[in-house]
Amino acid sequence: MKIPFYKPSLGKEEYREVKKVLDSGWLTLGEKTIEFENLFKKYVNADDAVAVSSCTAGLHICLRLINLKPGDEVIVPANTFTATAEVVKYFNAVPVIVDIDYKTGNILPEAIERNITSRTKAIIPVHFAGLPADIDKIKKLAGSKIKIIEDSAHALPAFYKNKKIGEISEFTCFSFYATKPVTTGDGGMITFKGRNYKKNSKLARLLRLHGISSYAWKRYKEKNLWFYKVLTWGYKYNITDIQSAIGIVQLKKADKLWEKRRKIAYYYNLLLKSASDLVDIPCEPENMVSSWHLCVIKLNLKKLKISREEVIYRLSKKDIMCGVHFIPLYRHPFYKKEYKYKIKDFKNSEKFYKSAISLPLYPDMKKKEVEYVVENLLEILKKNIR
Ligand SMILES: *Cc1c(COP(=O)(O)O)cnc(C)c1O
Repeated sequence: MKIPFYKPSLGKEEYREVKKVLDSGWLTLGEKTIEFENLFKKYVNADDAVAVSSCTAGLHICLRLINLKPGDEVIVPANTFTATAEVVKYFNAVPVIVDIDYKTGNILPEAIERNITSRTKAIIPVHFAGLPADIDKIKKLAGSKIKIIEDSAHALPAFYKNKKIGEISEFTCFSFYATKPVTTGDGGMITFKGRNYKKNSKLARLLRLHGISSYAWKRYKEKNLWFYKVLTWGYKYNITDIQSAIGIVQLKKADKLWEKRRKIAYYYNLLLKSASDLVDIPCEPENMVSSWHLCVIKLNLKKLKISREEVIYRLSKKDIMCGVHFIPLYRHPFYKKEYKYKIKDFKNSEKFYKSAISLPLYPDMKKKEVEYVVENLLEILKKNIR
Protein backbone atom coordinates (compact mmCIF):
# COMPACT_ATOMS: atom_id res chain seq x y z
CA MET A 1 0.00 0.00 0.00
CA LYS A 2 1.32 3.47 -0.92
CA ILE A 3 0.16 6.29 1.32
CA PRO A 4 0.95 9.85 0.20
CA PHE A 5 1.10 12.60 2.79
CA TYR A 6 -1.67 14.51 1.04
CA LYS A 7 -3.99 14.31 -1.94
CA PRO A 8 -6.36 17.11 -2.94
CA SER A 9 -10.03 16.21 -3.46
CA LEU A 10 -10.99 17.40 -6.90
CA GLY A 11 -14.06 16.28 -8.85
CA LYS A 12 -15.68 16.76 -12.26
CA GLU A 13 -17.31 19.91 -11.00
CA GLU A 14 -13.98 21.78 -10.68
CA TYR A 15 -13.06 20.87 -14.28
CA ARG A 16 -16.47 21.98 -15.54
CA GLU A 17 -16.29 25.34 -13.78
CA VAL A 18 -12.74 26.04 -14.97
CA LYS A 19 -13.79 25.26 -18.54
CA LYS A 20 -16.65 27.75 -18.24
CA VAL A 21 -14.22 30.47 -17.24
CA LEU A 22 -11.82 29.57 -20.06
CA ASP A 23 -14.71 29.64 -22.56
CA SER A 24 -15.96 32.99 -21.23
CA GLY A 25 -12.90 34.88 -22.48
CA TRP A 26 -12.29 36.61 -19.10
CA LEU A 27 -9.60 34.77 -17.17
CA THR A 28 -8.30 37.10 -14.48
CA LEU A 29 -9.98 38.94 -11.57
CA GLY A 30 -13.65 39.37 -12.44
CA GLU A 31 -17.17 38.25 -11.65
CA LYS A 32 -16.20 34.73 -10.52
CA THR A 33 -13.94 36.27 -7.91
CA ILE A 34 -16.72 38.53 -6.63
CA GLU A 35 -18.93 35.43 -6.35
CA PHE A 36 -16.18 33.56 -4.49
CA GLU A 37 -15.71 36.46 -2.06
CA ASN A 38 -19.42 36.69 -1.32
CA LEU A 39 -19.70 32.98 -0.74
CA PHE A 40 -16.64 32.97 1.51
CA LYS A 41 -17.85 35.93 3.54
CA LYS A 42 -21.09 34.10 4.27
CA TYR A 43 -19.32 30.82 5.04
CA VAL A 44 -17.24 32.31 7.86
CA ASN A 45 -19.76 35.01 8.92
CA ALA A 46 -17.34 37.84 8.16
CA ASP A 47 -18.32 41.40 7.28
CA ASP A 48 -16.31 41.33 4.05
CA ALA A 49 -13.84 39.12 2.21
CA VAL A 50 -11.13 40.06 -0.29
CA ALA A 51 -9.53 37.34 -2.44
CA VAL A 52 -5.78 37.54 -3.02
CA SER A 53 -3.02 35.50 -4.64
CA SER A 54 -1.93 33.78 -1.39
CA CYS A 55 -2.25 33.86 2.37
CA THR A 56 1.21 35.45 2.42
CA ALA A 57 -0.09 38.27 0.21
CA GLY A 58 -3.08 38.62 2.55
CA LEU A 59 -0.85 38.96 5.62
CA HIS A 60 1.30 41.51 3.79
CA ILE A 61 -1.74 43.60 2.90
CA CYS A 62 -3.05 43.44 6.50
CA LEU A 63 0.27 44.71 7.85
CA ARG A 64 0.07 47.57 5.37
CA LEU A 65 -3.49 48.31 6.57
CA ILE A 66 -2.29 48.63 10.17
CA ASN A 67 0.49 50.93 8.97
CA LEU A 68 3.42 48.82 10.16
CA LYS A 69 6.66 50.83 10.26
CA PRO A 70 10.37 49.98 10.30
CA GLY A 71 11.46 49.00 13.82
CA ASP A 72 7.94 48.03 14.94
CA GLU A 73 7.58 44.59 16.49
CA VAL A 74 5.14 41.85 15.55
CA ILE A 75 4.75 38.80 17.78
CA VAL A 76 4.55 35.44 15.97
CA PRO A 77 4.68 31.82 17.18
CA ALA A 78 7.83 29.73 16.68
CA ASN A 79 5.80 26.85 15.29
CA THR A 80 4.77 28.20 11.90
CA PHE A 81 5.71 28.52 8.26
CA THR A 82 8.15 31.27 7.35
CA ALA A 83 5.38 33.28 5.64
CA THR A 84 3.96 34.36 9.02
CA ALA A 85 7.20 36.12 9.97
CA GLU A 86 8.60 36.94 6.54
CA VAL A 87 5.87 39.49 5.84
CA VAL A 88 7.05 41.47 8.88
CA LYS A 89 10.52 41.72 7.35
CA TYR A 90 8.97 43.25 4.20
CA PHE A 91 8.53 46.41 6.31
CA ASN A 92 11.90 46.15 8.03
CA ALA A 93 9.91 45.59 11.17
CA VAL A 94 10.94 42.87 13.65
CA PRO A 95 9.26 39.47 13.93
CA VAL A 96 9.37 38.61 17.63
CA ILE A 97 9.26 34.83 17.67
CA VAL A 98 7.78 33.37 20.87
CA ASP A 99 7.31 29.94 22.46
CA ILE A 100 4.30 27.69 22.05
CA ASP A 101 2.07 25.47 24.16
CA TYR A 102 3.48 21.94 23.98
CA LYS A 103 0.03 20.37 24.06
CA THR A 104 -1.59 22.30 21.22
CA GLY A 105 1.37 23.58 19.21
CA ASN A 106 -0.23 27.04 19.35
CA ILE A 107 1.27 30.33 20.50
CA LEU A 108 1.58 30.50 24.31
CA PRO A 109 -0.24 33.51 25.84
CA GLU A 110 2.35 33.73 28.65
CA ALA A 111 5.10 33.98 26.04
CA ILE A 112 3.23 36.79 24.31
CA GLU A 113 2.94 38.61 27.63
CA ARG A 114 6.70 38.29 28.26
CA ASN A 115 7.49 39.76 24.85
CA ILE A 116 5.15 42.74 24.62
CA THR A 117 7.08 46.03 24.51
CA SER A 118 6.24 49.63 23.68
CA ARG A 119 7.09 48.82 20.05
CA THR A 120 4.70 45.88 19.71
CA LYS A 121 2.34 46.75 16.88
CA ALA A 122 0.62 43.42 16.20
CA ILE A 123 0.28 39.75 17.08
CA ILE A 124 -0.14 37.11 14.37
CA PRO A 125 -1.48 33.95 16.04
CA VAL A 126 -1.56 30.79 13.90
CA HIS A 127 -4.31 28.20 14.31
CA PHE A 128 -1.88 25.33 14.16
CA ALA A 129 -3.10 22.19 12.35
CA GLY A 130 -6.55 23.82 12.37
CA LEU A 131 -6.93 24.08 16.15
CA PRO A 132 -7.78 27.66 17.16
CA ALA A 133 -5.25 29.61 19.21
CA ASP A 134 -6.64 31.03 22.47
CA ILE A 135 -8.00 34.21 20.91
CA ASP A 136 -9.73 35.55 24.03
CA LYS A 137 -6.52 35.44 26.06
CA ILE A 138 -4.57 36.97 23.17
CA LYS A 139 -7.16 39.74 22.80
CA LYS A 140 -6.88 40.57 26.48
CA LEU A 141 -3.09 40.84 26.23
CA ALA A 142 -3.32 42.93 23.06
CA GLY A 143 -5.60 45.52 24.64
CA SER A 144 -6.75 48.35 22.41
CA LYS A 145 -3.40 49.36 20.88
CA ILE A 146 -2.01 46.07 19.56
CA LYS A 147 -3.66 44.65 16.43
CA ILE A 148 -4.45 40.98 15.91
CA ILE A 149 -4.12 39.41 12.47
CA GLU A 150 -5.08 35.73 12.49
CA ASP A 151 -3.03 33.42 10.29
CA SER A 152 -5.78 30.97 9.48
CA ALA A 153 -3.98 29.10 6.69
CA HIS A 154 -4.99 25.81 8.40
CA ALA A 155 -8.35 26.61 9.91
CA LEU A 156 -11.15 26.34 7.36
CA PRO A 157 -13.46 25.66 9.03
CA ALA A 158 -12.67 25.85 12.73
CA PHE A 159 -14.57 27.13 15.74
CA TYR A 160 -13.56 29.00 18.86
CA LYS A 161 -16.28 29.21 21.54
CA ASN A 162 -19.00 28.63 18.92
CA LYS A 163 -17.64 31.30 16.62
CA LYS A 164 -16.18 30.48 13.27
CA ILE A 165 -12.58 31.45 12.58
CA GLY A 166 -13.01 34.45 10.28
CA GLU A 167 -15.71 36.18 12.29
CA ILE A 168 -13.68 36.98 15.40
CA SER A 169 -10.78 39.35 14.69
CA GLU A 170 -10.56 42.49 12.60
CA PHE A 171 -8.29 40.64 10.14
CA THR A 172 -8.06 36.93 9.28
CA CYS A 173 -6.05 35.43 6.41
CA PHE A 174 -6.76 32.08 4.75
CA SER A 175 -4.68 30.02 2.30
CA PHE A 176 -5.83 28.03 -0.73
CA TYR A 177 -2.39 26.54 -1.38
CA ALA A 178 -2.44 23.04 -2.87
CA THR A 179 -2.34 21.17 0.44
CA LYS A 180 -4.70 23.38 2.44
CA PRO A 181 -8.28 22.37 3.42
CA VAL A 182 -9.81 24.29 0.49
CA THR A 183 -7.54 24.75 -2.50
CA THR A 184 -7.37 26.77 -5.70
CA GLY A 185 -3.80 25.60 -6.45
CA ASP A 186 -2.58 28.83 -4.94
CA GLY A 187 -4.67 31.63 -3.52
CA GLY A 188 -5.81 33.33 -0.37
CA MET A 189 -8.58 35.31 1.31
CA ILE A 190 -8.61 38.15 3.83
CA THR A 191 -11.75 38.44 5.93
CA PHE A 192 -12.72 41.58 7.79
CA LYS A 193 -14.82 42.06 10.88
CA GLY A 194 -15.86 44.99 13.04
CA ARG A 195 -16.50 48.68 12.74
CA ASN A 196 -13.60 49.45 10.36
CA TYR A 197 -14.38 46.67 7.92
CA LYS A 198 -15.58 48.91 5.07
CA LYS A 199 -12.53 51.13 5.12
CA ASN A 200 -10.17 48.18 5.46
CA SER A 201 -11.67 46.01 2.74
CA LYS A 202 -11.85 48.95 0.36
CA LEU A 203 -8.17 49.67 0.82
CA ALA A 204 -7.31 45.95 0.58
CA ARG A 205 -9.08 45.83 -2.81
CA LEU A 206 -6.97 48.76 -3.97
CA LEU A 207 -3.72 47.27 -2.68
CA ARG A 208 -4.18 43.85 -4.23
CA LEU A 209 -4.18 45.33 -7.74
CA HIS A 210 -1.62 48.12 -8.09
CA GLY A 211 -3.68 50.71 -6.18
CA ILE A 212 -5.96 51.06 -9.19
CA SER A 213 -9.37 52.63 -8.63
CA SER A 214 -11.61 50.56 -10.89
CA TYR A 215 -11.02 47.08 -12.14
CA ALA A 216 -10.35 46.26 -15.77
CA TRP A 217 -13.18 43.74 -15.89
CA LYS A 218 -15.69 46.38 -14.82
CA ARG A 219 -14.46 48.86 -17.39
CA TYR A 220 -14.42 46.17 -20.02
CA LYS A 221 -17.85 44.85 -19.14
CA GLU A 222 -19.72 48.05 -18.57
CA LYS A 223 -18.65 50.64 -21.11
CA ASN A 224 -15.32 49.56 -22.47
CA LEU A 225 -13.79 52.56 -20.75
CA TRP A 226 -10.02 52.96 -20.90
CA PHE A 227 -9.64 55.39 -18.01
CA TYR A 228 -8.37 54.47 -14.54
CA LYS A 229 -6.58 56.13 -11.64
CA VAL A 230 -3.67 54.92 -9.53
CA LEU A 231 -4.64 56.03 -6.02
CA THR A 232 -1.76 54.47 -4.10
CA TRP A 233 1.17 52.12 -4.58
CA GLY A 234 -0.09 48.59 -4.42
CA TYR A 235 0.86 45.06 -5.35
CA LYS A 236 0.14 42.45 -7.98
CA TYR A 237 -1.70 40.24 -5.50
CA ASN A 238 -4.98 39.50 -7.25
CA ILE A 239 -6.49 36.04 -7.60
CA THR A 240 -7.78 34.99 -11.05
CA ASP A 241 -11.27 33.89 -12.09
CA ILE A 242 -9.79 30.49 -13.01
CA GLN A 243 -8.73 30.01 -9.40
CA SER A 244 -11.95 31.48 -8.03
CA ALA A 245 -14.01 29.03 -10.11
CA ILE A 246 -12.19 26.15 -8.40
CA GLY A 247 -12.53 27.90 -5.05
CA ILE A 248 -16.31 28.22 -5.36
CA VAL A 249 -16.71 24.49 -5.97
CA GLN A 250 -14.26 23.64 -3.19
CA LEU A 251 -15.93 25.97 -0.71
CA LYS A 252 -19.32 24.38 -1.38
CA LYS A 253 -17.73 21.05 -0.45
CA ALA A 254 -15.77 22.43 2.50
CA ASP A 255 -18.07 20.98 5.16
CA LYS A 256 -18.08 17.54 3.55
CA LEU A 257 -14.28 17.54 3.20
CA TRP A 258 -14.00 18.64 6.82
CA GLU A 259 -16.33 15.86 8.00
CA LYS A 260 -14.17 13.32 6.17
CA ARG A 261 -10.92 14.66 7.64
CA ARG A 262 -12.48 14.73 11.08
CA LYS A 263 -13.53 11.10 10.86
CA ILE A 264 -10.04 10.06 9.78
CA ALA A 265 -8.40 12.06 12.57
CA TYR A 266 -10.75 10.56 15.18
CA TYR A 267 -10.03 7.10 13.81
CA TYR A 268 -6.29 7.72 14.13
CA ASN A 269 -6.84 8.86 17.70
CA LEU A 270 -8.93 5.82 18.50
CA LEU A 271 -6.39 3.38 17.08
CA LEU A 272 -3.49 5.12 18.81
CA LYS A 273 -5.13 5.24 22.22
CA SER A 274 -3.82 1.79 23.13
CA ALA A 275 -0.26 3.14 22.83
CA SER A 276 -0.77 6.33 24.81
CA ASP A 277 2.46 5.65 26.72
CA LEU A 278 4.40 5.93 23.45
CA VAL A 279 2.50 8.57 21.47
CA ASP A 280 0.57 11.70 22.37
CA ILE A 281 -2.49 12.13 20.19
CA PRO A 282 -3.64 15.63 19.23
CA CYS A 283 -6.06 17.29 21.61
CA GLU A 284 -9.18 19.32 20.92
CA PRO A 285 -9.80 21.37 24.09
CA GLU A 286 -13.30 22.22 25.21
CA ASN A 287 -14.74 25.25 23.37
CA MET A 288 -12.60 24.56 20.31
CA VAL A 289 -13.28 22.63 17.15
CA SER A 290 -10.41 21.87 14.79
CA SER A 291 -10.48 21.83 11.01
CA TRP A 292 -8.15 18.82 11.23
CA HIS A 293 -5.92 20.15 8.50
CA LEU A 294 -3.13 18.05 10.02
CA CYS A 295 -2.97 15.14 12.43
CA VAL A 296 0.17 15.79 14.48
CA ILE A 297 1.23 13.15 16.98
CA LYS A 298 4.15 13.43 19.40
CA LEU A 299 6.47 10.58 20.30
CA ASN A 300 7.30 9.93 23.92
CA LEU A 301 11.04 9.96 23.27
CA LYS A 302 11.93 9.12 26.86
CA LYS A 303 10.47 5.66 26.32
CA LEU A 304 12.05 5.08 22.91
CA LYS A 305 15.50 4.15 21.66
CA ILE A 306 14.77 5.70 18.29
CA SER A 307 14.61 9.30 17.10
CA ARG A 308 11.68 11.01 15.36
CA GLU A 309 13.79 11.22 12.16
CA GLU A 310 14.37 7.48 12.24
CA VAL A 311 10.65 6.74 12.74
CA ILE A 312 9.76 8.90 9.72
CA TYR A 313 12.48 7.22 7.67
CA ARG A 314 11.27 3.73 8.55
CA LEU A 315 7.68 4.67 7.74
CA SER A 316 8.81 5.94 4.35
CA LYS A 317 10.40 2.51 3.74
CA LYS A 318 6.85 1.17 4.11
CA ASP A 319 5.60 3.74 1.56
CA ILE A 320 4.01 5.89 4.23
CA MET A 321 4.82 9.56 3.75
CA CYS A 322 4.82 11.79 6.82
CA GLY A 323 5.67 15.43 7.43
CA VAL A 324 6.96 17.67 10.20
CA HIS A 325 5.12 20.87 11.03
CA PHE A 326 7.05 22.98 11.50
CA ILE A 327 10.79 23.41 11.71
CA PRO A 328 10.67 26.25 14.28
CA LEU A 329 11.45 29.64 12.79
CA TYR A 330 14.39 30.34 15.14
CA ARG A 331 16.17 27.21 13.85
CA HIS A 332 16.34 28.48 10.26
CA PRO A 333 19.64 30.10 9.21
CA PHE A 334 18.01 33.35 8.12
CA TYR A 335 16.15 34.06 11.37
CA LYS A 336 19.08 32.89 13.49
CA LYS A 337 21.50 35.23 11.77
CA GLU A 338 19.22 38.22 11.38
CA TYR A 339 17.58 38.31 14.83
CA LYS A 340 19.78 36.27 17.20
CA TYR A 341 17.14 34.31 19.09
CA LYS A 342 18.18 32.18 22.08
CA ILE A 343 17.15 28.53 21.93
CA LYS A 344 16.64 28.51 25.71
CA ASP A 345 13.60 30.78 25.22
CA PHE A 346 11.83 28.02 23.33
CA LYS A 347 11.62 25.08 25.73
CA ASN A 348 8.18 23.88 24.64
CA SER A 349 8.78 24.48 20.98
CA GLU A 350 12.03 22.47 21.08
CA LYS A 351 10.32 19.54 22.80
CA PHE A 352 7.44 19.74 20.33
CA TYR A 353 9.70 19.90 17.29
CA LYS A 354 11.84 16.94 18.31
CA SER A 355 8.88 14.63 18.84
CA ALA A 356 6.24 15.72 16.31
CA ILE A 357 5.14 13.77 13.26
CA SER A 358 2.34 14.82 10.88
CA LEU A 359 0.59 11.65 9.76
CA PRO A 360 -0.92 11.31 6.27
CA LEU A 361 -4.38 12.88 6.23
CA TYR A 362 -6.58 13.72 3.27
CA PRO A 363 -10.35 13.59 2.78
CA ASP A 364 -10.38 10.54 0.52
CA MET A 365 -8.14 8.47 2.78
CA LYS A 366 -9.61 4.99 3.38
CA LYS A 367 -10.06 3.34 6.78
CA LYS A 368 -7.73 0.58 5.64
CA GLU A 369 -5.03 3.11 4.86
CA VAL A 370 -5.33 4.63 8.33
CA GLU A 371 -5.02 1.15 9.84
CA TYR A 372 -1.95 0.45 7.70
CA VAL A 373 -0.26 3.63 8.95
CA VAL A 374 -1.03 2.89 12.59
CA GLU A 375 0.01 -0.78 12.39
CA ASN A 376 3.36 0.13 10.91
CA LEU A 377 3.93 3.03 13.28
CA LEU A 378 3.18 0.93 16.35
CA GLU A 379 5.33 -1.91 15.11
CA ILE A 380 8.30 0.42 14.71
CA LEU A 381 7.74 1.98 18.13
CA LYS A 382 7.17 -1.27 20.02
CA LYS A 383 10.34 -2.78 18.61
CA ASN A 384 12.26 0.19 19.97
CA ILE A 385 11.10 0.61 23.52
CA ARG A 386 13.93 1.58 25.80
C1 LIG B 1 0.63 27.63 4.10
C2 LIG B 1 0.83 28.59 5.19
C3 LIG B 1 0.95 29.97 4.95
C4 LIG B 1 1.13 30.54 3.57
O1 LIG B 1 0.05 30.34 2.73
P1 LIG B 1 0.23 30.71 1.18
O2 LIG B 1 -1.18 30.73 0.68
O3 LIG B 1 1.04 29.63 0.57
O4 LIG B 1 0.87 32.03 1.11
C5 LIG B 1 0.99 30.83 6.02
N1 LIG B 1 0.94 30.38 7.28
C6 LIG B 1 0.85 29.06 7.56
C7 LIG B 1 0.77 28.63 8.98
C8 LIG B 1 0.82 28.12 6.52
O5 LIG B 1 0.76 26.82 6.80
